[in-house]
Amino acid sequence: MGDYLHVAQEATDLVCGGSNPYQDRYVEHLAELLDLDLDEPIRFAYIKREDVETYCFQELWGCYYDDKAYSIFPVLTHELAHAVTDRAGWKGTQVFREGIADVLGFNNNIDVERLPIREVIRNNERDPDSTYTTALFVRFLLEEHGLEKLAQFMRATDLDDDFATVSAAFEDALGVSIDSAFDAFSSYPTCSAWANQAAIVECGQEPLPWGPDGLETTVFLDCDDDSTVGPISDEIRSSRSLEVSVDGTYEITVSSTSAAASGVRLTHCGDCRTPIDEIVLAGSSRTVDLSAGRYFALFVTDVGQPAEVTLQLSTAP
Ligand SMILES: [Zn+2]
Repeated sequence: MGDYLHVAQEATDLVCGGSNPYQDRYVEHLAELLDLDLDEPIRFAYIKREDVETYCFQELWGCYYDDKAYSIFPVLTHELAHAVTDRAGWKGTQVFREGIADVLGFNNNIDVERLPIREVIRNNERDPDSTYTTALFVRFLLEEHGLEKLAQFMRATDLDDDFATVSAAFEDALGVSIDSAFDAFSSYPTCSAWANQAAIVECGQEPLPWGPDGLETTVFLDCDDDSTVGPISDEIRSSRSLEVSVDGTYEITVSSTSAAASGVRLTHCGDCRTPIDEIVLAGSSRTVDLSAGRYFALFVTDVGQPAEVTLQLSTAP
């Protein structure tokens, strides 16, 4: 049990050694980002799948209310993002709350579609497409206007505020009309929900060193190990961060000591304008164009089969 997170576990399923430390670090980093002193740890309950209706009503995976986060997965930073922003006094309408939790934390939404932003903000509903669309808009606002102004806007609005209230609060906090922000957002790229996450723990790690011939690192994945996170849908993972100093064509090679499906997912950190997100399976090589900048590499394998997964990255010949 760490300093920032108090975990209650009702689920009897396996929890990998790195899951609670990872979420503890996540809360620490997010509180720091929001300039928040946590007097009390955030409370997270890992609940049984069949109990989700009891705790979370209509929600499928988890929820947050009354200062407690609930989840049917051992790791669900989306709910922790609700908890930490709530402690920081952020409120916001339904869609903004959900969009922010998807940018600052992560949910497992896939197959989502970007909708017209104006209708999404007006309708204030919490379906996956609306959340994903708002999350893109939130990322855009963070880039264009910064965290402090967004925080001011979130503190000034509440769950069921109507659009007139939201528009007025928006203009007051951000200094531009919400309509002009919608217009500017229309040319903002549509990156995947995965690439749109801020990945604050993953991207905040000390970057791996480069050698004269490139970068090579081996990660030991074993659910018993205290640096391995999961399981998430039978996968276990561990992340590293790396820095690419020049734009160029690179060769990525991944190998594994296990026959189980393993691989590395390399994702650009920082914004949605450089949506580089490459999955390389163990036993294969890929040539990819990478822009200079920070990346996070997620090493993944099957929960049942511990493995050493090696990533090699070098300038393509
Ligand atoms: Zn949520």
